Amino acid sequence: MKITAIETSVVALPFNMGGPYQSFAGLLWDRMEILLVKVETEDGLVGWGEAFGHAAIPATKAAIDSIIAPLMIGRDAGDINAINRAILHSTHLLGRNGSFVYGYAGVEIALWDLQGKRTGQPIWRLLGGSKPGLLDAYASLLNYKTHDLVAHNVREAVQAGYRAIKLHQTTREDVLVAQQAAGDVPVMLDVNCAWLPPKAHEMAASMSLDGLRWLEEPVWPPEDVDGLASLRRHGIPLSAGENVAGLFGFKTLIDAGAIDIAQPSVTKLGGISEMVRIIHLCQANGITVAPHSPYFGPGFIATLHIAAALIEAPLIEVLWLEMEANPFDPWVRPQNGKLAVPDGPGLGCDPDPAILARYAKGTTTRTEAA
Ligand SMILES: [Mg+2]
Repeated sequence: MKITAIETSVVALPFNMGGPYQSFAGLLWDRMEILLVKVETEDGLVGWGEAFGHAAIPATKAAIDSIIAPLMIGRDAGDINAINRAILHSTHLLGRNGSFVYGYAGVEIALWDLQGKRTGQPIWRLLGGSKPGLLDAYASLLNYKTHDLVAHNVREAVQAGYRAIKLHQTTREDVLVAQQAAGDVPVMLDVNCAWLPPKAHEMAASMSLDGLRWLEEPVWPPEDVDGLASLRRHGIPLSAGENVAGLFGFKTLIDAGAIDIAQPSVTKLGGISEMVRIIHLCQANGITVAPHSPYFGPGFIATLHIAAALIEAPLIEVLWLEMEANPFDPWVRPQNGKLAVPDGPGLGCDPDPAILARYAKGTTTRTEAA
């Protein structure tokens, strides 16, 4: 079925993070924004996707509206592999890790939603999965300025039923405070590429006996795969991947011996097909996959489908915050630390139009055949 129109829109959802808001890329982060991509076909079906994200949304939206959407109109929405090849090749000179690949990810997720709707199958089934049970989630805490807030939010997350908790802090003291508050619940530490290798060695050595479940992105810059690999001698499992460009980015990490745990991010690396290839590569190399999924829209739902179909005993990242409302409720909210996977066709959950309208930010852009 031919693609007849593509729309991009943004919803901005108020949230409470259990402490003062932080800034992100120089902007106050007090709304959870979702860049939605809607793809329509000539038979009237509609597919939904989500493109990364955060402060990059205006740039990603412009990439879709100006370049990607016009390239998509008139193509057969079922030709997912051929479209991947054509669009990513057409835009490769514009960047292999950034707005164009992020934008295409949103379109590609919508193509899988359409494929599922057209065939009456959930995406986990299209990927060969069996009917999933509940998936384990981990609470991915935001950054807090005080140890008290770290401890408070760790306790709240444990009480909410999470059986693993990740910090976005950068000191060993935060880890020790969190572990004390967490009791027997394991703690992970994500420092978002905070350290050059010498400092990263100092920090990893200091925490080597603390029992961290993993240490995420300890090295700046994220391309320094040899620097990251050198940290493995401290014995803490290392994770990375949310800033990696596609399959060959993961191959580079794996070939360098840099990671124990791979964290592909479906809204960043080009969508579901590329994520599936990365999971197979990781599994063939004995690398655990723990998806990067701090999202609350179709990118999150797509992660559930992929993980359910392809990852044994997956652990799903859920940002620790309380949203006022979400157009994809209830699927984006864990219960007792576990997530249900939709079993309707495609993603299995279209957004609630009333919530989309209430929290719309900026204008919807529609691209259609001339
Ligand atoms: Mg991270």
